Amino acid sequence: MSGEHILVVEDERDLCEVLAYNLRREHFQVSTARTGRDGLEAARSGKPDLILLDLMLPDLDGLEICRLVRQEPRISATPIIMLTAKGEETDIVVGFGVGADDYVPKPFSVKELIARVKAVLRRGSSQADEAPQRPVRRGAIEIDPARHEVRVEGEPVEFTATEFRLLYFLASRPGQVYERDTLLRRVLGTEAIRVARNIDVHIRSIRKKLGEQRNVVETVRGVGYRFSDAGPTSS
Ligand code: CA
Repeated sequence: MSGEHILVVEDERDLCEVLAYNLRREHFQVSTARTGRDGLEAARSGKPDLILLDLMLPDLDGLEICRLVRQEPRISATPIIMLTAKGEETDIVVGFGVGADDYVPKPFSVKELIARVKAVLRRGSSQADEAPQRPVRRGAIEIDPARHEVRVEGEPVEFTATEFRLLYFLASRPGQVYERDTLLRRVLGTEAIRVARNIDVHIRSIRKKLGEQRNVVETVRGVGYRFSDAGPTSS
């Protein structure tokens, strides 16, 4: 689980150094960039295993970088953890639909951040090791894990790795209600920090992408979420 290459894109010098120091102590290879353009260039040339991306940067902001990374086939699958400044709502990030795999609000503890890094990396590697999972079709929604593909009413829709796992997990078990904590543990890995709000953020983004099919992901008030078993909405 060590030796993976982490790219840190952060303009605050002290924070950048603290992150690099602590990640190296955990045996990660670390490269750093202090501007958006350098960060994007480092992502292209270094092909990191994960990017820690500050939202507010002096030139290209984190949203733009995230969008550009997702558009380039060679690096589009790189997990991204977005560092959002104090007071900035994660909703803003989700609203732009740029596809970060996780969001960590500042101020954060370095220990917590490293736990998130490991959780996101492990998710990626366990996905690669798992036997191919079966495609699921629910009404107008088709999910094919082998191809990492979701079609809504026949049209392909892009989901981040995290959103994909959540949607596939719920859709594979229609009618069953899962608490936020359970979803975090089962879908996002045991080391995921249990911030229930994060699940809500991902669910909101999933619903937005499902468009008119959004109601298949149901909120069970005071409990959690489930995928509707009300029967197909078409087909
Ligand atoms: Ca900043």
